Amino acid sequence: YEAKRSGSSVVVWGSELDRHSSQRLALQAELRRALERDELVLHYQPQLDLASGRVAGVEALVRWQHPERGLLPPAEFLGAVEQSGLVDPFTSWVLTRAVQDCARWRAEGLDWAVSVNVSVRNLVCDELASRLGRLLERTGLPPDQLTIEITETALATDADVLASAVGALADLGVDISIDDFGTGFTTFALLSRLRVNEIKVDREFVGGALARDEDRAIVSAVVGLAGGIGCRVVAEGVEDGATADWLRTIGCTRAQGYHYSRPVPWPELAAARLGSPQSV
Ligand code: C2E
Ligand code: MG
Ligand code: MG
Ligand code: MG
Repeated sequence: YEAKRSGSSVVVWGSELDRHSSQRLALQAELRRALERDELVLHYQPQLDLASGRVAGVEALVRWQHPERGLLPPAEFLGAVEQSGLVDPFTSWVLTRAVQDCARWRAEGLDWAVSVNVSVRNLVCDELASRLGRLLERTGLPPDQLTIEITETALATDADVLASAVGALADLGVDISIDDFGTGFTTFALLSRLRVNEIKVDREFVGGALARDEDRAIVSAVVGLAGGIGCRVVAEGVEDGATADWLRTIGCTRAQGYHYSRPVPWPELAAARLGSPQSV
């Protein structure tokens, strides 16, 4: 308060803060409208089973079709979602759309599972498991066709709370995946307490694997770890065939990345059916 009265630079800093917080409030109000007006869209990116070369499933990645600013990537608005009271309705929207889409393409004869990103912050919401259970019943999607990818947030979550939240989801029969493994919150101690079906190696390590010994060692170690605890491993950010070949030789289960396809709206993905990988 003293400083504010005596130094003009502090006053300027104060108004900067005000400007930022009013921008943030405006973004939050826009997001609320976006949910009401159905401006969010899901794009899907295939995950290939490396042994068979077939699409095993697709990951849902959210985008915002903004009326003025065009198609926005999640990095532009996920922060605002988390800071606002919108995490719950946002996650409900994503889960509902992804599960409905997956039920629909399965009815059309596409045997693809779906993966959905859920932030740790939302996972700890009491209602999530019961709401998801009702959604699965309503759509008839077999629970084992849904994978929940747990993504990190800045929030440090208590291990007991996290383990019981993950346990409630696992009880539904859905698969649990640890996203961006190696860059995030997951320690080995936590990993051993969660009922995990899948580990995703972050693209930070996968992208450089052929060029850097260190990255190659990390990816190999995660593949070995996953095998040891009986879960599958997905390498993300696979951008070339040589990396895909190497991943296959070390026993990595699945691969995902621009080499196969960028994330696209699902009708496009379904139309191509990945007859040839580059055609999408
Ligand atoms: P993520 O779950 O690790 O998703 C992978 C990101 O890498 C996606 O970015 C994807 O488009 C991108 N990617 C895929 N293949 C390649 C590749 O070969 N090379 C490169 N350079 N990038 C590749 P995107 O769609 O911008 O999503 C960023 C992050 O936003 C996601 O990271 C995820 O943490 C979060 N996110 C996306 N959708 C949702 C959602 O519905 N809910 C929540 N809570 N988070 C989401
Ligand atoms: Mg993910
Ligand atoms: Mg990831
Ligand atoms: Mg990542």
